[in-house]
Amino acid sequence: MRDILYLVIPCYNEEEVLEETAKQLKKKMNELIADGAVSRESRIMFVNDGSKDNTWDIIQKLHQKDEIFSGVALSRNRGHQNALLAGLMTAKEYADMVISLDADLQDDINAIDKFVEKYYEGYDIVYGVRNKRETDTFFKRNTALAFYKFQAFMGVDAVYNHADYRLMSKRALDGLEKFKEVNLFLRGIVPLIGYRYTTAAYNRNERFAGESKYPLKKMLAFALDGITSFSVKPIRFVAMTGFLIFAGSILVIIYSLIRKIFGFTIGGWTFLACSIWLLGGIELLGLGIVGEYIGKIYSETKQRPRYIIAEILNRK
Ligand code: UDP
Ligand code: MG
Repeated sequence: MRDILYLVIPCYNEEEVLEETAKQLKKKMNELIADGAVSRESRIMFVNDGSKDNTWDIIQKLHQKDEIFSGVALSRNRGHQNALLAGLMTAKEYADMVISLDADLQDDINAIDKFVEKYYEGYDIVYGVRNKRETDTFFKRNTALAFYKFQAFMGVDAVYNHADYRLMSKRALDGLEKFKEVNLFLRGIVPLIGYRYTTAAYNRNERFAGESKYPLKKMLAFALDGITSFSVKPIRFVAMTGFLIFAGSILVIIYSLIRKIFGFTIGGWTFLACSIWLLGGIELLGLGIVGEYIGKIYSETKQRPRYIIAEILNRK
């Protein structure tokens, strides 16, 4: 008896691609079932993220016609990450392993075989990693690269060239469930779960129909979430700058006093120069210290799990 695989696909206004996507995924799933790689109870689960078009109608029809398709509808649009989480948490009640992918099939579905193989080798998380980015525009490719670099610099661990195309085992999803944060950035949280993980390379294709639901504005907000949800380093930089200016102000004071003593100055300049530097430094430093406390409060309010147990050995 093989394990049950669920494919989870968040969908927002995807009526143009959904039927084709369903067709291709069904073919893939049936191959996997025929090969004995996954159980017959495996499903393709579409999550309707409050679409304004016919997406949900299409999902309902697919489900009526064929039990291999299942659907989850959110009460309103909650964004890609939340829709994905809703799908993962629903699927894990039925599945042994879940693979998340986008509705536009930009991620090559032939990689699914590799993901499943790695799962049977004992990996709990398999990250899909793009091996080339030629199909992205020059702009998207470079902004993405800059973002990864900047994120690493800010102290956030993320798998390079990995979007949300990945396999997770049931117990990895149980671990994910313990993360209660509201500002969701799954790519950053999943590595925090732990367990054995690996990567699998795949090709990224162009969206075959419809438009990207990630315009620049959303991409920037997403990028900012990816840093501020994981790191207090930006605050530390403010504190560091404050400290440097404070240290610098001592030099400025010495310099101004020397000029004053030797009379190379105009009235009131010494006082003003010293005040500006000293106050500026103290203010920034103070802000940074307050920021440290806010950072602590921030990480506490997220109530992240402090540990996730992988196994217990205990003889009665
Ligand atoms: N998506 C969603 N809710 C949203 C925006 C997007 O569920 O509010 C889904 C969308 O239907 C797709 C996936 O998230 O399946 C990724 O979106 P898209 O392909 O537009 O992003 P891109 O590949 O351009 O980064
Ligand atoms: Mg896409």
